[in-house]
Amino acid sequence: MNQWIEELQTELLNGQVLTDTADRVSYSFDASFGEYLPEAVVQAKTKEDVIHVMKIANRHHISVAPRGQGTCLSGGPLPVKGGIVLDMSQWPEKIDVRPDDLIAIVSPGTITASINKKLESYGLMYPPDPSSAHVATIGGNLAENSGGPRGLKYGVTKDYVIGLEVVTPEGKVIRTGGQTIKNVTGFDLTKLLIGSEGTLGIITEAVLKLIPKPPAAQTIMAVFDDVESAGKAISKTLTSGILPAKMEFMDQASIGAVERYQPSGLPVDAAALLIIELDGHQEAVTKEAADVEAVMNELGATHVTVPATQAEAARIWEARKLVSPAIAAIKPTKVSEDATVPRSQIAPMMEKLQRIKEKYHVELVVFGHAGDGNLHPNILCDKRDTEEMKRVEQAVEEIFQAALELGGTLSGEHGIGTMKAPFMEQELGNVGVEMMKRIKDSWDPNGIMNPAKMFPEHNQRLVLRHE
Ligand SMILES: Cc1cc2nc3c(=O)[nH]c(=O)nc-3n(C[C@H](O)[C@H](O)[C@H](O)COP(=O)(O)OP(=O)(O)OC[C@H]3O[C@@H](n4cnc5c(N)ncnc54)[C@H](O)[C@@H]3O)c2cc1C
Repeated sequence: MNQWIEELQTELLNGQVLTDTADRVSYSFDASFGEYLPEAVVQAKTKEDVIHVMKIANRHHISVAPRGQGTCLSGGPLPVKGGIVLDMSQWPEKIDVRPDDLIAIVSPGTITASINKKLESYGLMYPPDPSSAHVATIGGNLAENSGGPRGLKYGVTKDYVIGLEVVTPEGKVIRTGGQTIKNVTGFDLTKLLIGSEGTLGIITEAVLKLIPKPPAAQTIMAVFDDVESAGKAISKTLTSGILPAKMEFMDQASIGAVERYQPSGLPVDAAALLIIELDGHQEAVTKEAADVEAVMNELGATHVTVPATQAEAARIWEARKLVSPAIAAIKPTKVSEDATVPRSQIAPMMEKLQRIKEKYHVELVVFGHAGDGNLHPNILCDKRDTEEMKRVEQAVEEIFQAALELGGTLSGEHGIGTMKAPFMEQELGNVGVEMMKRIKDSWDPNGIMNPAKMFPEHNQRLVLRHE
């Protein structure tokens, strides 16, 4: 056995260090592509566990890939260089709510949805709402800067974190930010670490900013028989003095997939659907709902539904949530992208996606957070079919290019990981990437912290096939 594995075992409990092949295989993949076998897995449950692991790894130059629940869609927790997978999901859940300060102090393994569950009784809310909130950890959300439908009005994870505790790659502990809303002391390391995809250190605690839970909400569903009008209705709503909490888009293929998977009463003939949620005080919500309904009608909606009950509204959102499982049932493999464009470019992006679909003969479905330009083009395919996957790779590359040409970005929420690393220079330029690498090198002089993520390896390209 390697000496560093024996050293790991000296201070960790029996069973916290896993070296059996079966255990290692179960940590070799995430929800994206690629499989890499770690040499050992450590299930960290305390800050001291993490310090112990990082000191040994740094001394022996062993790679460490932090991991939450492995739901990453860009390859973030994959142990590309072997070494250690540091599993944070077994860390006991801690949600310490401080209502007078409007903050909650949370442990890294806490399941994100548990936070809002706990906040219910306080009348408070933690707004970031990735669709995976009920299965992903807050540590993973922090590392990926995750977001969801509420990003439109409330922003994403980074907008609600005011302090962090982090173990550095050399096994030292730092605290960034604090418990105050205002804090301009020194560089903003909190913001640097959020979205750093586990490449700069291990997050062991976070101070989250909370807001009062809006007392009322109203859902509106608008049906369109062409995508362009739906795109215009999004822009018109957002420029008419109304900021919905959520504004979601479904194309015809995703509507059809949901209805085949679990009939939910969606209009299968529609070219596009917008599902909107307004929140705030009841009087304001009622007035804004009438205004949004008028905008939808003006822009050519063929039908607008304003549910009268919460149960009816919940059914519409349930149908939206079914898109992912519904399209996953169409073919064995789902390539889920999150290219994001300025809001005025949603309609042109939809046109480009249609052209890509036809050019590469791929099964492309589009849904997503239309209000903030964060579309989810999903390609349904079969990863055992090498010829098909080659076309999918080309289509994905063109989707990235299309988003960048329209002034957008490679990723609105899923992160770069291994999957989008080859395209980083296209968005940031080589100097931009070089400056990021310099930051990485100074934080992690031995290059052990989640290597092969975010920065492209020599001649790296997108590969979704088994080669
Ligand atoms: C069905 C489905 C729906 C999804 N919907 C959304 C969505 O709506 N919005 C969205 O943003 N994402 C979404 N995702 C992607 C994914 O759920 C998020 O990226 C999530 O934040 C990952 O959390 P995790 O606990 O699974 O972390 P993992 O996947 O295990 O890891 C993610 C990254 O975080 C790092 N990491 C984990 N814990 C720590 C830590 N404590 N310290 C430092 N680094 C750490 C890892 O190294 C890795 O780079 C979805 C995924 C699936 C499968």
